[in-house]
Amino acid sequence: MCGIVGYIGRQDAYPILIKGLQRLEYRGYDSAGVALINPDNKLNVYKAKGKVADLEYNASSKDTSGTIGIAHTRWATHGEPNDVNAHPHYSQSENLALIHNGIIENYMVIKQELIRNGYTFKSSTDTEVLVHFIEYIKKTNKVDLCRAVQLAMGEIIGAYAIAIIDKNDPDQIIAARKSSPLVIGIGEDEFFLASDATPIIEYTPRVIYIKDEEIAVIRRNKPIRILNMRDIEQTPEIKTLEMNLTQFEKGGYPHFMIKEINEQPRTIVDCIRGRINIEATDVILSGVLDNKERFENARRIIIVACGTSWHAALIGEHLIEDLCRIPVEVEYASEFRYRNPVIDKDDIVIAISQSGETADTLAAMELAKSKGAFIYGICNVVGSSIARGTDAGSYVHVGPEIGVASTKAFTGQVMVLSMMALTMAKQRKTITDELYKSLIKELIIIPEKMKKVLELNETIRDLSKIFTYAHNFIYLGRGYNYPAALEGALKLKEISYIHAEGYPAAEMKHGPIALIDAEMPVVAIATTDSIYEKTISNIQEIKARKGRVIALVTEGDDVVCNIADYCIEVPKTLEYFAPLISAIPLQLLAYYIAVNKGCNVDQPRNLAKSVTVE
Ligand code: GLU
Repeated sequence: MCGIVGYIGRQDAYPILIKGLQRLEYRGYDSAGVALINPDNKLNVYKAKGKVADLEYNASSKDTSGTIGIAHTRWATHGEPNDVNAHPHYSQSENLALIHNGIIENYMVIKQELIRNGYTFKSSTDTEVLVHFIEYIKKTNKVDLCRAVQLAMGEIIGAYAIAIIDKNDPDQIIAARKSSPLVIGIGEDEFFLASDATPIIEYTPRVIYIKDEEIAVIRRNKPIRILNMRDIEQTPEIKTLEMNLTQFEKGGYPHFMIKEINEQPRTIVDCIRGRINIEATDVILSGVLDNKERFENARRIIIVACGTSWHAALIGEHLIEDLCRIPVEVEYASEFRYRNPVIDKDDIVIAISQSGETADTLAAMELAKSKGAFIYGICNVVGSSIARGTDAGSYVHVGPEIGVASTKAFTGQVMVLSMMALTMAKQRKTITDELYKSLIKELIIIPEKMKKVLELNETIRDLSKIFTYAHNFIYLGRGYNYPAALEGALKLKEISYIHAEGYPAAEMKHGPIALIDAEMPVVAIATTDSIYEKTISNIQEIKARKGRVIALVTEGDDVVCNIADYCIEVPKTLEYFAPLISAIPLQLLAYYIAVNKGCNVDQPRNLAKSVTVE
């Protein structure tokens, strides 16, 4: 969600900033802008509604010189997406320019105070209030910019990552954060600033992750300084990134999403590497093993997540209850954080988030932490806020996911949850040795089975053509495949804008079956499992009402295939791991329908990759 980029050094800032914004496009945005201080100390700001390309077009005939600048892709929260509301925002005197990711919750109170003091506003954003406020503090307290930012941070409520420049000091960028991410890249006589490491990696692997309520003073040719709000100097922790640029490119595919769908056999291997022994007899998940007692004594597990991660959590609930006999509750992080949930110190709270920056999940995690629960994180982005804030955790290790609609991160999350459940089950002795080993044997061949599923690419592409103009879809599944149905429906909604709902198949007769007629496509996941026969009855009920059934079945199934209108056959796996296989054809179906409709698959409208506002 929204992107921040900054540069100060010896090169021209503008091309670096534009490229940085392009690298952050995947996060989702609706307008873009840039501020540069030129060699004559003029502060130029250019902005445009729409894409980074629109900004480039706007700035093409203008002065884009300067070796210091900040740039932004905005995901509107306060004020519609237009040129005026786009960032950067000037301060009243136009000496300062600021970019901001997040929300200033008490902006109205501050705005009124500023209006009383003669300030005027051009935009409807909360961000413009912040830049005026910083200038106001700077002037009235006669302090430097860094101190003014510190004092402002003491007054504002909300979430933010900001970067600010002053035309009277063209050798400095001040950056600060609370709840929203910010990374600084350290090059040779130059510094880069960004919301995540993607724009930085091509210049330097050396980075500093700014922590909550810290301020970075980035000065040309000077060592970086990190201060906290009380002006106490912090020691910057320099980390080395272990990513490479090819991970951020499409590698011959037309979209990141299809590249990422196809990567799954490999990303699942990466996810299990070093965690299942070579003989495939044991799972070694250090996050769980290192906290043996906590897991052995856990009375309850609560999983907090949002969106696709919430669907992975539902699968985790099945796995953990089935194999470990611990009660599990799955919560929407956004609801959990505003309830008064009963949390005990013997509870384990698992926070799942691809980006590790999801604001709601982060807040739910903090709440659980304050009540003494043990916090376990499952994230993809290394060094992210959730990953850093937990007591223990496991990365999914599927590499950068650029497509906004999650695919490989979902299967990675499910794989981590599967390994967690196995590790806990062994510790708690709730599983026989025989079952434990047979499950591990199956887990390690999942990547091979995924490869086979991906051979269905052409079949699903052809099938997608029949349904491109459907207005609604229903996805059905039961047991482990119910969350897979929810995830299939979400994928379709996200990228094709077709209304889709997922239901437990047996729930249809309690209401939703009223929707079924010859116009309604129904995707029924009916792979062979312990409730296969029941699912068949549910499909019959749909067919009896003339619904058009696309069935996802196990290879060789001729029962369901005789009832359904269309059949997709996938390799057999154990019921526990069914979603790892059934997710893929549903991802492909959503992808091809969206492509047929001409939708922007990688950056669907209104969506953001990393949801850093609540
Ligand atoms: N709240 C700010 C705005 O609406 C920043 C949104 C963002 O994070 O892009 O302008």
